[in-house]
Amino acid sequence: MKVLVIAEKMEDGIKKPSLEALGLATRLGNPVEAVLLGAGLGDLATLLAHYGASKVYVADDASLEPYTAEAYTAVLADLVEKIEPGLILLGATAMGRDLAPRLAARLGIALASDCTDLQLEDGNIQIIRPMYAGKLIATVRQESMPHFATLRPNVLPMPEPDTSRTAAIEPLVVPATDIRAQVKEIVETAAGQVELTEATIIVSGGRGVKGPEGFEPVRELAQVLGAALGASRAAVDAGWIPYAHQVGQTGKTVTPNLYIACGISGAIQHLAGMKTAQVIVAVNKDPDAPIFKVADYGIVGDLFDVVPALTTEFEKLLAD
Ligand SMILES: Cc1cc2nc3c(=O)[nH]c(=O)nc-3n(C[C@H](O)[C@H](O)[C@H](O)COP(=O)(O)OP(=O)(O)OC[C@H]3O[C@@H](n4cnc5c(N)ncnc54)[C@H](O)[C@@H]3O)c2cc1C
Repeated sequence: MKVLVIAEKMEDGIKKPSLEALGLATRLGNPVEAVLLGAGLGDLATLLAHYGASKVYVADDASLEPYTAEAYTAVLADLVEKIEPGLILLGATAMGRDLAPRLAARLGIALASDCTDLQLEDGNIQIIRPMYAGKLIATVRQESMPHFATLRPNVLPMPEPDTSRTAAIEPLVVPATDIRAQVKEIVETAAGQVELTEATIIVSGGRGVKGPEGFEPVRELAQVLGAALGASRAAVDAGWIPYAHQVGQTGKTVTPNLYIACGISGAIQHLAGMKTAQVIVAVNKDPDAPIFKVADYGIVGDLFDVVPALTTEFEKLLAD
C-alpha cells in the first residue's frame, strides 16, 4: 500500500510529528512517499529521505508561505488524486488539525484525528484513537479510500535517520488559488516558547503556586529543561496564566516524554489531558494528593523549595 506523509517544516528542519509519521508509514506500507509545502524549502526533502521517504513531492512557492489551509488543500487534493495513495498520514499539530478536515472534505473521505497507532490486520488498516478524554480507546476502520489519519505527537517512536538513503524529488506545479483567508500577522505568545501539544517535556503549575509570581520558579525549571509551560484550570481560572497553557479535559491533551506537575492535586479532569505522558513527576506538599497515584516519581514537599532545587541540579547536570 502506498503511504503519503504530509510533512511539516519548521524554521530549521522538519517537525518531529512528521518524522514520527514517516516511521509509522515505513512500518505499514511500501512505497512511502512524502510531500512538503512552503517557500524556500532548500534541501529539506533530503531529510525526509533519511527518515524513510522513497519519493518526495515538493511544492515550493511564495503563495504557500505562510501556511493557509486553502492553498495547501488545493495542492494536496491535486496530488492525492494524481498518485492515489492507500493511506495519508499527517501530524496532529496546530497545522495538521486545521488542514486535515478541509482536505478530507475536499477529497470526500473519512478522517480519523489524533490517533495513537495504526495497525495492519488481514491487509486492513485499523486505526487506534483515544475517545472521551482518554476514557476509552476506539479501533476505527475507514470504508473510504484513501485512509486518512492525523497522529498525536510524541506517542509513536522516532525512526532512526539513515543518511545514506536518497529519494526521487518531484517538484509540484502550484495552482493559482483564490485564497479568501489571508494571514495578516503571526503573534508569538513569548519568544522561544515551546508549543504544549508538541513538547517532549512539560513543567506545569497549579493552584499550589499561589499567584502569577509563583509561576516564576516553574517557568525557570521549564526554561532549563527546554520544556513547555503547562497549568491546571485552577491556575488559569484565577488569571495567573493564559488559557493557552491549560492542560486537561477542557484544555490541551498532551503526551510528553516527561510531565512535571508542581502544586497540582491531580483532579480527574487534569489527568484526562496528561495521564498518557511517559514519565510523570509530581511535586506536592500533601502526601495524599491524588496526583501521586499516577506519578512515576513523587516528591512530597513545598514546591517553592523543591522546584528551585531541581532547577539548580538540572542546570549543573545539563552543563556537563
Ligand atoms: C467540566 C470540568 C472541566 C474541567 N477541566 C479541567 C481541565 O481541563 N484542566 C484542569 O486542570 N482542571 C479542569 N477542571 C478542574 C478540576 O476539577 C480541578 O478543579 C483543577 O484541576 C484543580 O487544579 P489544581 O490541582 O491546580 O488545584 P487544587 O485541586 O486546589 O490543588 C492544588 C494542589 O497544590 C498543592 N499545594 C499547595 N501549596 C503547595 C506548595 N507550596 N507546594 C506543593 N504543593 C502545594 C495542594 O496540596 C493541592 O494538592 C475541570 C472541572 C470541570 C468540572
